Amino acid sequence: MQFSLISDTFEKMEATTKRLELTQHLVDLFKATPRESISKIVYLIQGKLRPDFEGIELGVAEKLAIRAIAKSSGSSVKKIQDIFVEDGDLGHAASKALEQKTQTTFIKQQITAERVYDTLLKIAKLEGARSQDMKMKYISSLLNDATPQEAKFILKIAMGTLRLGIADNTVMDALAIAYTGSRTNREKLEAAYNVSSDLGRVAEIVAEKNLDGLKEFHVSLFSPIRPMLAERVKSAKEAEEKLGKEFAAEYKLDGERVQIHLGGDKVVLFSRRLENITSHYPDIVENITKALKTEEIILEAEAVAINENTGEFLPFQELMHRRRKYNIDRIVSQYPITVNLFDIMYLNGKDLLNSTYEERRKKLEDITVENEFVKLVPKIIVRSENEVEDFLENGINAGCEGLMLKVLDAPYRAGARGSNWLKLKREYRNELGDSLDLVVIGAFFGKGRRTGRYGTLLLSTYNQEKDTFESICKVGTGFTDENLDQFYQILSSKVTLKKNPRIESGMEPDVWFEPELVIEIVASEITLSPVHTCAKDSVRKGSGLALRFPKFTGKIRDEKAPEDASTDQEVVTLYKNQKKVTQDVSEV
Ligand code: AMP
Repeated sequence: MQFSLISDTFEKMEATTKRLELTQHLVDLFKATPRESISKIVYLIQGKLRPDFEGIELGVAEKLAIRAIAKSSGSSVKKIQDIFVEDGDLGHAASKALEQKTQTTFIKQQITAERVYDTLLKIAKLEGARSQDMKMKYISSLLNDATPQEAKFILKIAMGTLRLGIADNTVMDALAIAYTGSRTNREKLEAAYNVSSDLGRVAEIVAEKNLDGLKEFHVSLFSPIRPMLAERVKSAKEAEEKLGKEFAAEYKLDGERVQIHLGGDKVVLFSRRLENITSHYPDIVENITKALKTEEIILEAEAVAINENTGEFLPFQELMHRRRKYNIDRIVSQYPITVNLFDIMYLNGKDLLNSTYEERRKKLEDITVENEFVKLVPKIIVRSENEVEDFLENGINAGCEGLMLKVLDAPYRAGARGSNWLKLKREYRNELGDSLDLVVIGAFFGKGRRTGRYGTLLLSTYNQEKDTFESICKVGTGFTDENLDQFYQILSSKVTLKKNPRIESGMEPDVWFEPELVIEIVASEITLSPVHTCAKDSVRKGSGLALRFPKFTGKIRDEKAPEDASTDQEVVTLYKNQKKVTQDVSEV
């Protein structure tokens, strides 16, 4: 397959922000893709080479890419650097440099998508002393045969800066249309994706065997399952209204969610975002089997930092120390943890996703032998609002964030947020009753003490239905000097030349970012807003919702993907609850 088919499609996608058009471009591309190459094309569209859990990173440094472009275009390194500084994107720099090419290569091969993919995969796997030279050679060999437009996208993929403005949902819509003739089959593809976390493989199977093939997808060891997510409730009363007479209440611990796969001697750990985090927790790898009476198992647990002297839970930021490559052994003893099991999805060859919560919890209890390091998350069955409140009180005294409330006869719905799990957090000292997790979409430059850094950030909620990020407020309070430096460092690599098409904002910041970073915010109130686009028209025609007196809590939620942020619908619910309270009070 010619790579130009892909680069033409990407070019068209960059020119639109409409989801239907973006989907249609993908459908056309998939229809033109040979079946044996579809998985490679899907990974490239996702901006990756393999599913996240395999941990294959492209790892091309800017300097190296600049040298490769210089070599292939016959320009000087200095000249490429100048173009790069001017418009900030190496893809553009590559296409410009090739347009002005002074050397010509005589034997020019048409470049195929497979060759681009295979070469990038080779680059990703290179290690060792000579790897930098080899990487440069590989990239410039691609560029030698590429047109300027192809070069632009090869570089964007290699640098991880391909921003097509689409999420996995759009790719699944397009696959469903291209291979099954109807977008409504998206759900079936999603079910396969939920248990495999590998969209390339889902595409390959549906292309080859149509819907029937999707039945092949089962939970399997060492392939992460997309996690089940919870909806929030504001009070025990609301939970009782939603869950009925009898349900389970568990402590909600404030740590890192870890999916544990154990088979024979092998232990593999995945994060909530399904990255392989086995190396962060050598203590889990070493000790988990001692607490389990079985051999093949997939479990979910919350790893929580503890104070070794008192056994108390510590806030989840303490776990950030674990995210490192070197000296992990020292860190393990300096920042000890406990592993708190709360679910089981697979046991000795059997998929448990369709078992009820009650059955799964029973199995979990049967196979676990608790010790100092591995524990079951405390759980009771509750029948009234009062019981929920008492248990919440106990939980908070024990250092928890709140409770998770779970429907007893519900299955494990992988990849889904629904009302079978509810989260009830402790009362925050803000009038809203809860914090929100918002996505940073833009920033305004700082003044005075904040000169040279971002002074205020523009934040958004996530709209699940439209797959967009809608602005909700500007925030400038709650930042320490250290936070400001940290934000500048993290966010400057996310700056985009133009607004990502998934962002909808009535406010124009000084810089736009890729919607990636999630931070926690508290506020005093939700108000109607003529400017912000969150839940626009839902409460009143022509108005969106905004936060009044928003404040950063100090928590960067980097275990959350932007699609896990608070949604416009949650804000509408909070708005309505808040109105109800004011009305109730004024009626008294
Ligand atoms: P949130 O991050 O606020 O959306 O809350 C969901 C997260 O709570 C999950 O991803 C888990 O990491 C964490 N959690 C803590 N305790 C539990 C529990 N008992 N059951 C499920 N999730 C839990």
